[in-house]
Amino acid sequence: MIIANWKCNGSKKMIQNWSKIYKDTYIPFDETFVGIAPPYLYVEHLANSINANGLDIKIGVQDIDVSSGARTSAISVEMIKDMECQFTIIGHSERRNIFYESNKSISAKLDSVGSEVATILCVGESAEENNNKNTKNVLEDQLSIIKGKIMPTNFSIAYEPVWAIGTGNTPTSDEINDIHKFIKDVVQSSSENSIVPNVLYGGSVNDANAKSFFKQENVDGALIGGASLQGKSFANIVNIFNGKTI
Ligand code: PEP
Repeated sequence: MIIANWKCNGSKKMIQNWSKIYKDTYIPFDETFVGIAPPYLYVEHLANSINANGLDIKIGVQDIDVSSGARTSAISVEMIKDMECQFTIIGHSERRNIFYESNKSISAKLDSVGSEVATILCVGESAEENNNKNTKNVLEDQLSIIKGKIMPTNFSIAYEPVWAIGTGNTPTSDEINDIHKFIKDVVQSSSENSIVPNVLYGGSVNDANAKSFFKQENVDGALIGGASLQGKSFANIVNIFNGKTI
């Protein structure tokens, strides 16, 4: 699973160029779930561009709210299904830090989505928590919202150390592998149905470092911010994941 998080970036012109360059760079391979979460406003425009270029890319959203109704600026599960979106990111560190989302609100979002669309729950420690060797405690706390829940099979986790997002710094690939194993174990032991989720890595992934992460046993894909804004880099990363590099 390779997912692009465009955050608050993009334009109609960018989408037109992106789709064309992605199409020219991507080497076809049917087995990987490739998705883009654009800003909500561009969902339909991006979907049209992807269809017009014959690309096998799913569209998703960067966040979701718990219900429809009197909730200014929100979008609901019913709406994203209506727009044929196939996944949602939940609990991105920017939602936690800029918009003050708590484990409690993130848990309510997880419950409201259920298995309606694929969910990618983001977890990750800050630089300070990492320096204090607190990573596993922080992850355990963020994953505590799964305790006792029956988790759907289309549920994944993205491990995104906050200090690695947009900085060019990353943990080593061995460290990432170790943390992903830890996350899988925690989710397996705390979810009611003992699921072992796919775990994506996110944080400064690009087409130069992707291979070192993807060769790790417990890395099941990536969530990509900055590098996903260029159709060429994103297609290169997808090709690397698919073992299709030229
Ligand atoms: C992200 O914010 O989800 C992310 C992974 O960003 P970047 O790839 O730019 O570090």
